[in-house]
Parts: sequence; structure tokens; C-alpha cells
Amino acid sequence: MLVRSLTFRLKDPLPNEAKFLMEDFRLAVNNAIRLGIRSNVTSRFTLTKLAYKDFRKEHPGIYAQHLVSAFEVAGSILKNHRRRLRKKLPTQVPFVRRLFMKAENQAYKLDRENGIIDLPIKAGLHIQLELIISDYHRKYLDDESLSLGSMTLLSDRVVVTIRKHAPKPYAPASVLSLDTNERSLDGVLVKEDMIAAVVRAEFPEVSIIQSVHHDRRKRLQKKKSHDRRTAKRLCAREGKREHNRIDYRMHEVANAVLSFAEERRSIIVLEDLTGIRPSKGKKLNRRISFWPRRRLHQIIEYKAAWKGIPVVKVDPRYSSRKCPVCGSIQDSRKGAEFVCGCGWHMDRHLNASINLLQTAASEKAAGGLRFDPGAFQHDVVMVLCGPGRAVRPEPNGTSGIRAVA
Ligand SMILES: [Zn+2]
Repeated sequence: MLVRSLTFRLKDPLPNEAKFLMEDFRLAVNNAIRLGIRSNVTSRFTLTKLAYKDFRKEHPGIYAQHLVSAFEVAGSILKNHRRRLRKKLPTQVPFVRRLFMKAENQAYKLDRENGIIDLPIKAGLHIQLELIISDYHRKYLDDESLSLGSMTLLSDRVVVTIRKHAPKPYAPASVLSLDTNERSLDGVLVKEDMIAAVVRAEFPEVSIIQSVHHDRRKRLQKKKSHDRRTAKRLCAREGKREHNRIDYRMHEVANAVLSFAEERRSIIVLEDLTGIRPSKGKKLNRRISFWPRRRLHQIIEYKAAWKGIPVVKVDPRYSSRKCPVCGSIQDSRKGAEFVCGCGWHMDRHLNASINLLQTAASEKAAGGLRFDPGAFQHDVVMVLCGPGRAVRPEPNGTSGIRAVA
């Protein structure tokens, strides 16, 4: 089951009944958290058993389903807390400050036609919330293969989760193999054992954003060194901004890659980045963070699963140092071009993507497609050495990905 969340703005200010409900909900969550810590339980069922009766007495009006949902929220908060304790990470006794309430799909109704949510407060009292529906929302609401999940009500918006069964990935007609680098994805599109295009998706701004925010945080720490709390707060805000900016950019890159792959019915080959640590280079003072690349993979994989685009991830060991023709492994990974004694030479990033492709093929994950780099070496060299080759943007106007040749 795949889940995605949709955020809606509300047409009118929240009615008072909803505000009271949210306050009750928050109270129930916090009570259940305290109770859970005191009696050392995290399971929703035990929490419900322990807390339900008392809370029911104090708040006789609240709709029973909402109480159960409050205990569930408390349970997951407690689980997180416990996990942090176990891992000896810094943590405080959890306490919910934010005003919100969550309703499972049987505890509210959303009219997908006109965007009106019917939310029961207590017996005989329902409120209606009118959502502002954009074309983007419409696309999901009109899709009957999607079912509704939980709804979270916040003071200024509503988040509704939608679910669908993961579609069966299509049978690939081509392979898009991508090597993930600090500033770009570089790779090849292979069709019928031939390189059909050399592809690059660039995101040079990401490392710029990172270094700008890194410097800013450093400055903040210096300036606020007399006030650690403020420094911490401001740095956290900087970190959040950095995260949002990079995330936004990575979504764009992922969309470009996916629409490119979908049009050509490609299977996407990526390197498995788990366990890879950035190598300590000469510039020890500015470490290059890995998370934007991991995040990009996460987004690509998630969106691909939603659209039924097959993705395989392969072990990237030696991918930057191996010759795909003769198999010899080089010591250094310096220089923009990979040159091998056997005569093979190629842009280092593209060479890595071909190695990834070969690994995928040898692991028979790539849908039975076979690759023989020697066979298309000629074409590769043509692409890379051809002077003045026009770089054209994708006709569908997607940004960030360019097909050369
Ligand atoms: Zn070689």
C-alpha cells in the first residue's frame, strides 16, 4: 500500500466546535502519554484500556473514535520516545503543544466531489469544513483507484492521506542508468544494447545552498555565542530552511528523471547509497553532506513506485574505478576521464553509470536486457567527443535533465 498526503487550505475560519475538539484531543494525547510513561506501556490497546474510562468521564461529549485515535497518536509518540531512550539519544518527556486532531478514515467523511469534510464532534453534532480544491487536488480526488486514509486537522489546514495499491511496474523497454554525484546525476539511456542518449540531471545549486547555510550557521553561532539557546533555535531554523530548499529542488530533479524514464519505458538503475560515507578530502573544514543524494534517491524511488516505474539499486563498489570492458580496477579516481590500458576511455561519471548498468544486468534485475560495453564503445566515443553537439532541453519542458545526442 502506498500512501501520500494532500494538504488543503480551509475556505472559512475554523468553527469553535472544532477548536474545542482539538483542545480535547490534545489533552487526551498528553494524558495518555503521561499515563503510558507512568505505567510503562506503549501499545494503543493497553493505553486505551487504561485511559479510556477516566477520560470518558472527564469529557463525556467527545466522539469515541476520536479518543481511540488520540491514544493511537500517543502510542506512536511514546514509541519514538522509547526508541530514543534505548539509543541513548537526547530526549525529553514528550508533550504535545500543537493544536491538532487526527481522525481515522471511518471517523470522518470527505465528499470528494465538492470537497466538504463532515466531522462528528459528539453525538448529534457534526461540523462541515469546506476545503479549497485546486487542480492538483482534483487529480487525486477524481482518481477512483485511490482511497482515503486518515485526516489531520490543524488550525489552518487539513491533511488527508490517500492510499493506493502499488501498481505493477511496467516491463522495461530501455534502461536508464544513473551515477549520483554531488552536483548531478549522470548516466546513459540504453536501448537494444545501444546507448541511445547520454543523460545528465544537474543540481549544482544544492551544494551552493548547503555551503551558504553552513556559513550562515557558523556566523550565527559566533554572534550568539553568549546565548546558546538562541543560537540553537536560530540554527535549527536555518537548518529547516536549507532542508526545504534542497528538498524542493530534489523534487524537481526527480520529476524530470521520472518523466524522462516513463516516456521511454525505462527501468532506472541507481547506486545503493546506504553505508557510503563521504570520503575525507583535503577540505576537511567543509564536509560535503550526503543526505541530498540520499533524499533524491528516496524521492525517485517513492514516486517511481507510485507511477509503476521499475527501479533497481545496485552495489556501487568499484563503479568509479572499474573498466567495464576488460574489468581491471584502477587505484585512483582522479581526473574527469576514465582511461584504461585496454583502450577504453570515457567520462568518469558515465563510466560509473555503465558499471552500475553492468552490475544490474549481471544481477538479472534489469528485465533481461543485456549490455556489452565493447559493442557500443564506438557510439559512446562519438557522443562524448563530438564537438559542438547541441544540448537541447527536453521537449516537454522539464527542467534539470538534458539529453545529449
Ligand atoms: Zn579496460
